[in-house]
Amino acid sequence: MKNLIEKILSFLQKTVPVPIMIAVSSGIVVGSVFGLSVPLLVAAHSERVASFEEVAAYSMVEDALRFAGRANTADEAGFSHVTLPGIQKYDGPRLAQTMPVETKEAWLAWMSKNRNDDPFFLEERWQWAQNLVLTSELKRPEDVRAFLLTPREHFVRAQNKGLEYANTWLPIGYGATITDPDVVSMMTSTLNVQHGDKVLEIGTGSGYQSAILSYLTKDVYTIEIIKPLAIETDALYRDLEKSFPSYSVINRKLGDGYYGWEEYAPFDKIIVTCSIDHIPPPLLRQLNPGGIMVLPLGPPNRQYIMEIVKEEAEDGSITLSRRDVYNGMSVKFIPFRDDRGTSYSSPVSGYDDSF
Ligand code: SAH
Repeated sequence: MKNLIEKILSFLQKTVPVPIMIAVSSGIVVGSVFGLSVPLLVAAHSERVASFEEVAAYSMVEDALRFAGRANTADEAGFSHVTLPGIQKYDGPRLAQTMPVETKEAWLAWMSKNRNDDPFFLEERWQWAQNLVLTSELKRPEDVRAFLLTPREHFVRAQNKGLEYANTWLPIGYGATITDPDVVSMMTSTLNVQHGDKVLEIGTGSGYQSAILSYLTKDVYTIEIIKPLAIETDALYRDLEKSFPSYSVINRKLGDGYYGWEEYAPFDKIIVTCSIDHIPPPLLRQLNPGGIMVLPLGPPNRQYIMEIVKEEAEDGSITLSRRDVYNGMSVKFIPFRDDRGTSYSSPVSGYDDSF
């Protein structure tokens, strides 16, 4: 070893001029002193403790950088899981109607007799649903029932144990999030799903939104673009189907939701759970006349939850009406991206759209 170092040094002495040797070695010394001291100085002066949201957002940025690359998107994979025609579909909406919700006690008794929930979460879920009704985000009785039936604890990922019923969005890996319960409630209520509606969701993510939808109709379609996430959530549904058979009606696919799901179009309702600054024309085409689309519409830094209603006149002309369901309050969703990970929205100058 010593011999080897001596050989390298004498080789360098012979071949590299002395001034260059001095310049390079002082560069190394100065570089390492600054490289170490700058972060140390910054750390010493940052007294503020990062909020939960900042930590979550930071881990999302990291995840997004790792996973938003082309290799992990729909492009090279292509899986879909669809219920075969002719097969009797499990009737989640009927089950929801038979559930007593008049009192907490009656509900708890029915749940423990008829469902496979962990009793630990039931009280919490009941109280949480009542709060969503009080804040008027859960509007229709059908939606309250769907929320009471859906075990959010299975869709919040393991790293967020303890926050299953917290009123916040949470990271689920791959730069994606499970949406906050109040926004899920508001979007679901706005969608006004009727039994028998064909509903398309863009952005499967954790799988929670489509699980809710499976108690409102038997015809649910959902698309996710990030391959490992789509595969993970597909596996989760398969696993949960054994205890919660309504998830078997959730047709899911790995792909770019910008183009909808032509094969099964048209849809009565479309819910978009990633943000975009325009309504994707293919989705509009795939929406039935009289249909409703709910989406977070706006530039990358903030969006408004819009209800879009499509009407078709006798002469075939289409009109759209739109309503901001939160009356001016903005939200922030994960960007709607293409299969290279590029956002479909135009960049906003000075805004770093890195997650
Ligand atoms: N409904 C989900 C929300 C997940 S966050 C839940 O509550 O868990 C939004 C999701 O949209 C992310 O998983 C993101 O990967 C997905 N997404 C973004 N662009 C997409 C596209 N072009 N097609 C399908 N899904 C997309």
